[in-house]
Amino acid sequence: MRLSRYFLPTLKEAPSDAQIVSHQLMLRAGMIKQEAAGIYAWLPLGLRVLKKVEQIVREEMNRAGAVELLMPTIQLADLWRESGRYEAYGDEMLRIVDRHKRDLLYGPTAEEVVTDIFRAYVKSYKDLPLNLYNIQWKFRDERRPRFGVMRGREFLMKDAYSFDLDEASARKAYNRMFVAYLNVFARMGLKAVPMRADTGPIGGDLSHEFIILADTGESQVFCHKDLVEMGAPGPDVDWYGDLQPLVDQRTALYAATEEMHDEAAFAAVPADKQLSARGIEVGHIFYFGEKYSKPMKANVAGPDGKDVAVHMGSYGVGVSRLLGAIIEASHDEGGIIWPDAVAPFDVGVLNLRVGDEACDAACDKVVAALEAAGLEVLYDDTDNRPGGKFATADLIGLPHQLIIGPKALAEGNVELKHRATGERSVTSLDAAIAQLT
Ligand code: ATP
Ligand code: MG
Ligand code: MG
Ligand code: MG
Repeated sequence: MRLSRYFLPTLKEAPSDAQIVSHQLMLRAGMIKQEAAGIYAWLPLGLRVLKKVEQIVREEMNRAGAVELLMPTIQLADLWRESGRYEAYGDEMLRIVDRHKRDLLYGPTAEEVVTDIFRAYVKSYKDLPLNLYNIQWKFRDERRPRFGVMRGREFLMKDAYSFDLDEASARKAYNRMFVAYLNVFARMGLKAVPMRADTGPIGGDLSHEFIILADTGESQVFCHKDLVEMGAPGPDVDWYGDLQPLVDQRTALYAATEEMHDEAAFAAVPADKQLSARGIEVGHIFYFGEKYSKPMKANVAGPDGKDVAVHMGSYGVGVSRLLGAIIEASHDEGGIIWPDAVAPFDVGVLNLRVGDEACDAACDKVVAALEAAGLEVLYDDTDNRPGGKFATADLIGLPHQLIIGPKALAEGNVELKHRATGERSVTSLDAAIAQLT
């Protein structure tokens, strides 16, 4: 992609109402534009990252056996009346009336819709277990939308819903999502800690929030330090085997959000391992049994032929919030430092003297070679001054910069800069290509 033909409206300074660094950097890097409080347009660079994050979530959901569909953003109020949540949900729900005076709403979540889909088709235990997910925009009329995409009103969520015959198999479904979430966040370069979370009126111990530690996080959390560095199991787990040991390994150590915090239990953690910090909730998994299946009559025939209400769980990931969380975890004074897996482009090629025959030819050659190798390249072919090009490249945070200027090129050389480490090396054009591909 040539920058001269791209749309990258960067800003020298962030608007003063952007309070946290990820919000400031997303605005400055031309990733998002606010259209209304908590409602954003995704500009091309932001959209690229959003799609990468979305794709990682999708791949890990698929790997764990979940099946993707797409539910509508607009839902019928009547479904929520069936579950009993319509009135209870309160002011966060955006309620809409259509021309026939029918009550609709912009979905803040989709338990009712997915349960309605399930009950329309699934009639037998033989079709279980089933996990259906979608990656769809949600709307919650948050009291205080802030911090950019971290707390938007319109935001992109991955929400999965599991259906099982009984609690024991529902727990297995829960464990699959638990492990999948560890992998999802690790692939984005994030250290996410699963923490015991409030299950609300349902009770039980099956709810975890996945938390990224960050000073700007909105939640107060408490955990054993070792959990932060524990890492993820990776893709080679036996998804339909026994995942309980993997889950136990991570739930044996203390970790809880403020609502679930137990001072006495925390005090039992060795003092040098106690971590009390701020955190960002990037995911939340939940087992809620028959809460929706009972009132909505989502029943299947069990092995004995008798109808039973299915046991359900739901599993959310804040896809758009993750962009903010990644930037909070990975930036410096110069701007964003994208982890390779979610970078909007892999390499930025900076032509320091556009119009110079040798520079132009070298850039054309390198861009073609990198693209042929399957890399995504943003080629700065604008007539901006070198200083401006360096600043923009650092700001938008592509993993690698290939800097091509007339002086070095006269000696057959280019400069390669690694954004994360700041390491620079001068090499021949071919060596640079070889290094990147
Ligand atoms: P929060 O505590 O931050 O309000 P929540 O507990 O209400 O979030 P859930 O219902 O658990 O959110 O939704 C699943 C995921 O969706 C959350 O873990 C979070 O990552 C994301 N999410 C929720 N609300 C927002 C929002 N307003 N903006 C962006 N992402 C959100
Ligand atoms: Mg909320
Ligand atoms: Mg929450
Ligand atoms: Mg939550």
